[in-house]
Amino acid sequence: MAIKAQPLSNDIAQSGSNQSSMLVAAMAQLENAFEWLELEEGVREIIRQSERELTVSIPIQRDDGRINVFTGYRVQHSSARGPCKGGIRYHVNVDLDEVRALALLMSLKSAVARLPFGGAKGGIAVDPTSLSAAELERLTRRYAAMIRPILGAKRDIPAPDVNTNPQTMAWLMDTLAMFQGHNLPEITTGKPLSLGGSHGRTEATGRGVAIATIEILKRLGRNPKGTEIAIQGFGNVGSHAASILSEEFQCKIVAISDESGGIYSQSGLDVTKIVQQFKAHPGLLLSDYQIDGFDRISNDELLVLDVDVLIPAAMEDQITVRNADQIVAQIIVEGANGPTTLEADRILRERSVHVVPDVLANAGGVICSYFEWVQDRQMYFWDLEEVRSKLLMAMQKAFEEVWAMADENKLDMRTAAYSLAVQRVAEAIQQRGLFP
Ligand code: NAD
Repeated sequence: MAIKAQPLSNDIAQSGSNQSSMLVAAMAQLENAFEWLELEEGVREIIRQSERELTVSIPIQRDDGRINVFTGYRVQHSSARGPCKGGIRYHVNVDLDEVRALALLMSLKSAVARLPFGGAKGGIAVDPTSLSAAELERLTRRYAAMIRPILGAKRDIPAPDVNTNPQTMAWLMDTLAMFQGHNLPEITTGKPLSLGGSHGRTEATGRGVAIATIEILKRLGRNPKGTEIAIQGFGNVGSHAASILSEEFQCKIVAISDESGGIYSQSGLDVTKIVQQFKAHPGLLLSDYQIDGFDRISNDELLVLDVDVLIPAAMEDQITVRNADQIVAQIIVEGANGPTTLEADRILRERSVHVVPDVLANAGGVICSYFEWVQDRQMYFWDLEEVRSKLLMAMQKAFEEVWAMADENKLDMRTAAYSLAVQRVAEAIQQRGLFP
């Protein structure tokens, strides 16, 4: 397939205004990649659609005896390159369009990292903080039972995402194993170690974000030591990226934030100490964190700080037309999925800001999920060092391929990553042909 240089079409950029902005952005970038690749229309049409979408109404009994019904989804975007793979998110804003967009991103991410997976995503529209642990367990088990017909170790393998964790995956796996009548570790990834989880999986996305940050700094001739970084989101991805960048690469993390706001210190935050506090007090928010030596800032202020690198690692749609032209950082590494809206992406490109896109920057999670799946299928487990060194190699290889594609064709990294990924997905579709 020939690659041809073309600017992003305005029609594409302005289309689809009734869809979620993440879906609009993902679809526009997809169309852009189609044009670059001069892809045949039939294959474009296949990639534009999800292969399969399931919506379920999940009734659960609350602790006080009431019954509530929550809406859940599982969307499989593509299985052309292998079993569908993607996380499960619990958040009030979850809807079908968001899950569609995230499933598409997963197909592209698997392809960028050359994993033998397609893409999927799931979610429940719920505020998990409003449920007790017992209610969350009932919700997870009922949801697992309802989406079970389309799951499978060779069909569709879930993992954690926003507000879900190894415990969620343990309940999900156990529910599916009860139906099956035997243990089924390979049906999900991101499990606790005691249930066939992989060493290094919990930190993997943050570690991948850290590796991507170091790789872009190296390519731009910058020394990671002392590089000033602001990180939005201090959950799984943000907190691990912060620890690894400060402890292993001596970067200076000057600001972090969560949903309650942020903290800033010009001389650098003691990330190790903060992470220890958060581990010791699950549910702690930065607004509750009571230690001197930093200023309180808002999430809006964090995004426009005068830093070298900005890592959005919270939620989608954080970098928008409202703030894109005020962002000072010359490097943005997208830890979150879809943190940059389409219009903001255009502004950043015009301002020559280097954006390491989500489908590359946060691929460490799915890479390590792949390692977990391989270990479960072989019933042979690797130690932490082996996982880390394989993750490093896989991330560096993916980064190098995207960088080379961008460099050779004078592309921004997002267009390069999308084009590489779409090319790989399209090739699988074309080589399979159509059934029947
Ligand atoms: P998480 O639930 O562990 O953490 C999310 C963090 O974002 C929390 O600190 C929360 O307080 C904060 N947050 C929420 N809303 C915010 C807001 N409006 N402003 C600022 N902070 C806010 O979730 P996570 O697993 O760390 O995922 C974060 C992002 O990374 C998501 O976009 C997710 O899809 C993506 N991602 C996660 C993984 C993974 O393995 N967990 C893999 C790939 C991509």
